[in-house]
Parts: sequence; C-alpha cells; structure tokens
Amino acid sequence: MASRMTVKSKSLVIKNGKVLLASGELVEKNLLLENGRIAKIGAANRAAVELDAAGAYVLPGLIDIHTHGIGYESSNGSLKAYAEKEAARGTTTFYPTLFGPPEVSAGHMRRHIEETDNLRALPQIGGFRLESPYLGRTGAGISTDLAPISKATTNMLMKAGGGKIKIWDFSPELSGAIATIASLSRAGMVCSLAHTRCTIAQARQAVEAGARLVTHLFDTFEIPPTTDPGVYPAGLVDYLLIEDRVACEIIPDGTHVDPLHVEKTFRCKPADRLVFVTDSNFGAGLPSGDYVLPQGWGRVRINGSNNGVRLIDRKMALAGSAMTPIDGLRNAVRLFGRDMAAASRLCSKNAAGLLGLNKGEIAADRDADLVILDSNLDVLHTIVAGKVIYSRG
Ligand SMILES: [Zn+2]
Repeated sequence: MASRMTVKSKSLVIKNGKVLLASGELVEKNLLLENGRIAKIGAANRAAVELDAAGAYVLPGLIDIHTHGIGYESSNGSLKAYAEKEAARGTTTFYPTLFGPPEVSAGHMRRHIEETDNLRALPQIGGFRLESPYLGRTGAGISTDLAPISKATTNMLMKAGGGKIKIWDFSPELSGAIATIASLSRAGMVCSLAHTRCTIAQARQAVEAGARLVTHLFDTFEIPPTTDPGVYPAGLVDYLLIEDRVACEIIPDGTHVDPLHVEKTFRCKPADRLVFVTDSNFGAGLPSGDYVLPQGWGRVRINGSNNGVRLIDRKMALAGSAMTPIDGLRNAVRLFGRDMAAASRLCSKNAAGLLGLNKGEIAADRDADLVILDSNLDVLHTIVAGKVIYSRG
C-alpha cells in the first residue's frame, strides 16, 4: 500500500531567485513550498515541480485592502474575473470593497458568497470591506449610498456578509458610531476612520473604542480653517499622523496625495503603520487611452497608472485611481525612494499585520503567497497557497 507521506505533488521549489527575507535582506535562495506554506528556505530543496527564478525578485505577494475594481471588473460583478485580473498584477490577497446603498451592497455580498462557496473558491479574497454606508460625507459617492447607523442595518449587512466582512469604514461623528466601532472591533473586525469631518476628540474616542485604520489619509479630509492669521491650526490629519495606534492608508500614485505629504507620512508613522492601497475601480490597470466604462462611468481618459482615471465629459475630473498593486510597489521604490524591504512592508506585510494574516513575509510556515518580478519590477508569476495562479505569456 502506497504511503500518502511520499506524495510530493503539492510541493514546488522556486530556484535561484533573489528572495526578500523577513530580515529585509535580498539573498539568492531556493524556496520549498509545501501544502500551501513556505516549508524551507535554503539551497538544496527538491520537489516535483520547479520554477526557475534566476535574476528575478521573489517577494511576499501583494495585498490590497481597499479596491473596488480593476479593468472592466468590479466588486459589483464577478469576483472570479476580478481575481484573475488582480493575479496578473501580483495581488495574492485583496478585499473587494463595496460602496453603495446598504441593500445593494448586501445583495452583492449574498451573491458573491453563493457564487464562490463562501469565498472558499477564491483564496485570493481575504474578505469583504464595506466603505459605505456609515459615512458623514460621500467623497466620490452619492447621498443614497449613505445611511444612519442602526442595529437593523448593521445586522442585515453582517448576515449578508456571512462572517466575511473584515474591514468596515465609519465616520466617528455619526450617532452610534463609537458604540458600533467598539462592538465590531471586539468581534475582530478592523474599523477604519473614513470620509469624516469629526473633531480630533471624536477621532480619539473612535481609536479608544478600537478603530485601527484610517481610510485614504488626506483624500476626503479637510484642511483646518485658520481662525487667527498668527496661529497655525492643527487638524484631524495632524492627529492621525501622530496617533501610533492607527495604521494609515495612502493612495500612492503621487496624484491623489502630493509626494510631499507621502514623505511626511513616512516620517510620522511607525514603520508598520502605513499601508499602500489602490482604491482602484473600473479602468485601473488599463493601458493609456480613452475608454467607455460601464455602470454610468461614461467616457474616461487614462494616461499612465499615476494620473488617475479622468472623466472626459466632466472636465477631466478625477474619478478614481488607475493604479493596481504592482504600480504601488513600483512607486514605493521609484517615486518615493524606498528600498525593497520597505516597499514590501507598505504593499504586503503591514496589511497582513493589521488583518492578522499569516502572510506578508517570506519565512518558514508563512502562507506560500508570493510574487516573482523581473528586474523591471513587472510581474512574472503570482503564487497563492503554493500554487502558480498567474504566469506572464
Ligand atoms: Zn474606496
């Protein structure tokens, strides 16, 4: 009788790549992946399947905790098609983010749960994120996307999410926000301060209640008014920059947030409390050109990944980011001058830490979620749970 123990078909060796180790060093090593985990980092591993990564970088797979869509796919459509597009951009974990009236978001979650066997069919998906409805201001959304906080709405959304809502956005100034943040945080959800005009005292209350994230810092936040020309005012952003308990998201395209503010954020936040997100939607990742996008987006122009998606019929107003996760990693290195270890923290490890995932660094027993990049930082392979889910060409 053949022993099950000898079957090595679930193993993969990645050979000769420049591996980013948890120490931050980039070292030429072989990696043995077994049963969905990183089994061994070393020289002489063998497996049934080998992947030659000579000359390439082997990094933790990219994690995007704030994304609404990519190309022609979105969290309102097919998650399977969305996940395939994300795989081509190096994404090994993402949180499809819903923005819309509560009943509509609930409907999408119910459908996704059913279509994907409670998300089990798509290991790239970490869970859902709800950006609406509990916001004090819409940002790029519309007023019907918002709702007052109520137990009935919260319970309806929780039920529709089937236990898979992992991140939930709140404006702390809304009635009931602090109590709801406290109870959801106790239940293990990451609550994020978002789209808010709250006072610093209200934000601090939300953090005391358990909020641990800030949604796209700077974007949708207000510049504090000057009350006396001799006094420089402090605002909510200033508090959030020095509040070490919260991680801050940034959309790192250099357009949504001026690079000077990004640099300031690097200097203020602890190294593990800054998370790059795309906040991508329809159009992200498409080559430069003019497009007609679905669901009322209309005619848009895309000019590279850093210039956003622009609405042609509305005087080229910014409709969303054109970035995908790999663009964020490239910008960390090229636009913001970070080394590979820091870039990987921003695009992978810090998000994993926030969500409590066994991911985000290359170390024994971590999940085998990896991205292999050529010397130009273009994606060659994307690997999830030890399986190659994308290869270029
Ligand atoms: Zn968003």
